[in-house]
Amino acid sequence: MPPSEQQELLRATAKDYAERELAPNAASVDEREEFPEDAFRGLASLGLCGLTISEEAGGAGGGYVDIATVIEEIAVVCGSSSTAYITHVSLGTAAIARFANAEQLQRLVPPLSSGEKIAAFALTEPGTGSDALGMATTAKRDGDDYILNGSKTFITNGTHADTFVVFANSDRDAGYKGINALVVERGTEGFSTNHLTGKMGMRGSGTAELVFDDCRIPASNRLGDDGAGYSVALSTLTTSRVSIAAQCIGLARGAYEAALSYSKQRKTFGKPISEHQAIAFMLADMATEIDAARLLTHRAAEIIDSGGHPVKESAMAKLYASEVLGRVATKAVQIHGGTGYFKPSIVERIFRDAKVTEIYEGTSEIQRLIISRSILS
Ligand SMILES: Cc1cc2nc3c(=O)[nH]c(=O)nc-3n(C[C@H](O)[C@H](O)[C@H](O)COP(=O)(O)OP(=O)(O)OC[C@H]3O[C@@H](n4cnc5c(N)ncnc54)[C@H](O)[C@@H]3O)c2cc1C
Repeated sequence: MPPSEQQELLRATAKDYAERELAPNAASVDEREEFPEDAFRGLASLGLCGLTISEEAGGAGGGYVDIATVIEEIAVVCGSSSTAYITHVSLGTAAIARFANAEQLQRLVPPLSSGEKIAAFALTEPGTGSDALGMATTAKRDGDDYILNGSKTFITNGTHADTFVVFANSDRDAGYKGINALVVERGTEGFSTNHLTGKMGMRGSGTAELVFDDCRIPASNRLGDDGAGYSVALSTLTTSRVSIAAQCIGLARGAYEAALSYSKQRKTFGKPISEHQAIAFMLADMATEIDAARLLTHRAAEIIDSGGHPVKESAMAKLYASEVLGRVATKAVQIHGGTGYFKPSIVERIFRDAKVTEIYEGTSEIQRLIISRSILS
């Protein structure tokens, strides 16, 4: 479906903001592993932190095509900012907004929609990533509270988030029905975070380890019914994969646009390298694959916007877009020759940022598992 006038306006707003405010800081955010807090506050001031949240919960009531459009423009210039933004909007805030009861919707969501508070989503543990059901973190019921013990790792926004959606096991014998999703606020006694530094890419996205030591959480902070946590996680990941796919398209566009421009300036053997067919064909493949990835991504986003739950389609979009990004980033460095191998070349950064999109929110192998189960069932 062609973009609406409103979506064109949203794209223009996000693009203008990204180029003006995010692009100048992208290299230092990466170099210094610095959480892009100013970027986050700026996106909040544009009303983008609650883009897909209902108006009654302080959001803009937009859809997933809208958010895919915004994320693509952010990711073109700054991968780390796009990761922080996606984690806030599509993981943490989306999980709460979708599964909150009326009281929680009024209490927890407005400060996230406005961007006054930052959200994170904590599923992965040192011992379990793909196999989330094997989680060791426990949430034992104690009167009107849960007592949380254990740890989470690789949690995006964990260094700066205020509000965390934490998954924990309340009844090991109940399998997936024993998992609960609890909202934990920073400052709760027994809860601490440690910055995990040294990432290959997306270095500003504030990754942290979370530690819970007899941390008391009111049962009124549980999302959904007792034992609904695993559904909260899977359902949120299904829709958020559309956001990751859009991020891949943005990063791929950043690499492609840099390579296109460089190929017209750099001369070898008396002509611009773009006039060598080997380079021109690489550019042709890059442009084609980016468009194909966007079509898959917007198809999944449109299914969400029309009330569906595109388990297979969002996995296809995330799998394909992340692998397109890997190929495009590799070609973009190749087109830059030696220049592309050094900082501050944007393609050097995108090449490093790209890899994690094949790992987080479910690895490529897990996406293939989801797709194959769906087509074989
Ligand atoms: C920068 C970064 C940010 C992240 N942010 C978050 C976050 O905000 N919140 C969060 O909860 N998590 C986050 N993660 C964690 C991420 O989602 C996990 O790393 C990912 O799901 C893979 O889990 P794992 O690392 O434990 O790998 P494993 O599950 O141990 O997998 C190792 C390898 O085995 C493969 N594999 C596993 N099972 C199968 C199978 N059944 N069939 C075939 N192959 C298989 C995997 O594909 C992978 O190649 C983040 C990770 C990174 C690196």
